[in-house]
Amino acid sequence: MFKKIILSLLGIVLLLAAMLLFNTLRQTSKQLGQVKTNKATVDKDLVVNHLGGALRHKTISNNLNQMYDLGKNFTAFHQYLDSIYPNLTAKLTKETFAKYSLLYTWKGKNTALKPVLLLAHQDVVPVDGTSEKDWEFDAFSGTVANGYVLGRGALDDKTSLIGIMEAVEMLVKNGFQPERTIYLAFGHDEEVGGLGAQTIVEALQARKIELEMVVDEGGLISKGSIPGIQQEVALIGTAEKGYCSVELTVKGEGGHSSMPPPQTAVGVLSAAIQRLEANQMPARIAGATRQMLDFIAADAPFFLRLLFSNLWISEPLLRSQFVKSNSGNAALRTTTAATVFNAGIKDNVIPTQAKAVVNFRIIPGETIEDVLAHVKRTINDPRIAVAQSKSQMGQNPSPVSPTDHPSFQTLHQSIREVFPDVLVAPYLVVGATDSRRFIPICKNIYRFMPIRIASEDLKRVHGTNERVKVDCVVESVQFYARLIENLNGLK
Ligand SMILES: [Zn+2]
Repeated sequence: MFKKIILSLLGIVLLLAAMLLFNTLRQTSKQLGQVKTNKATVDKDLVVNHLGGALRHKTISNNLNQMYDLGKNFTAFHQYLDSIYPNLTAKLTKETFAKYSLLYTWKGKNTALKPVLLLAHQDVVPVDGTSEKDWEFDAFSGTVANGYVLGRGALDDKTSLIGIMEAVEMLVKNGFQPERTIYLAFGHDEEVGGLGAQTIVEALQARKIELEMVVDEGGLISKGSIPGIQQEVALIGTAEKGYCSVELTVKGEGGHSSMPPPQTAVGVLSAAIQRLEANQMPARIAGATRQMLDFIAADAPFFLRLLFSNLWISEPLLRSQFVKSNSGNAALRTTTAATVFNAGIKDNVIPTQAKAVVNFRIIPGETIEDVLAHVKRTINDPRIAVAQSKSQMGQNPSPVSPTDHPSFQTLHQSIREVFPDVLVAPYLVVGATDSRRFIPICKNIYRFMPIRIASEDLKRVHGTNERVKVDCVVESVQFYARLIENLNGLK
């Protein structure tokens, strides 16, 4: 009897091992096989000068635009683009939306094909006064030094904008004609809401235009972005998280602090926030994050390959590892961040009101309604009013774009032709981009910047000493040129 039990247990273990192994070995690489490197010859000095010049234009977006009239900076930037890209300016049609957002149309030979839109933004975040002195060079000097171009916007997002313009200028000059129409769209207020991009989308909708593909800023090319993968990975954002800020308000009795109630409005609200932090929304490996593990599995080291290929059994283990880091956690769940807390006016006065804002970034598969229901259920306190913030626009997460669509393949191919040594993987963008505005008119939205980046330089985005390698500026031009040429083969 005992022997029988041992034998059947052994049988189950062997069967399980065989299944795991079968799933692991069955996974074939999703990377394109042999790809011939194909890089255009680019005048490095010229391109770097153009980018430096772009960084000198203070196209700063902030909510105080109207007060400081930064509009003239955008107008000057537009004139600058016209002057350095004469062939593009002569060939493409340029329209302006919402005062400063630009839409260029490069008419294709075959108007029956759906157009493709390349998206970037002109605006940059301000340099805050306290960090200004920490910049090696003036943040708006576009200085080239030690193999880098330095300045606010070098990574976010002027290398993409200049890369796109440079590639089109080069192709127009060479007499290249696109098969399908190509739009270049450059919003002017991405960092503060993206109404410029929204206006462009509305114009395209009015013209009954549907897009085959949108390529916007998003993932970069770096090492260490996927745990356990040593190689550089080019991350293509196939989805982006939603956004919702929730206001919590408590009204109190007020009065003198010498005879306080057991709990003031501050105490009530603090307890509520503590409950929200302790009871996060569930972590799951789904959507674009699941797509990523599935896509990379066959090229991962054996143990990870085993785990990534058998999510049906390995998911709890992977989940527990992922959520240990802030970035891994953000990829797996709707995150909770208490960001604003206001109450009280004086140390001896009981506050009559306490107000807090909690910011949620929503994973695909959940909605703003789910977040509000979660907040109410978790706080479970009738003294606290819960409402979606009216000052910050809420946004549901994007749909997940496919990785088996020819447009993704075209992107993949173009990446490998210019960056032959990298792996390609889809992923979830945890921030928000202008591309979300295009959801109503496009199913294949990909968020990718053709820039190799070291992890220490990632911190410089929106930070101090933002910079991009000179060689990477050249590669970004080569990438956009290949992408546009390859679009002629996209059926
Ligand atoms: Zn950006």
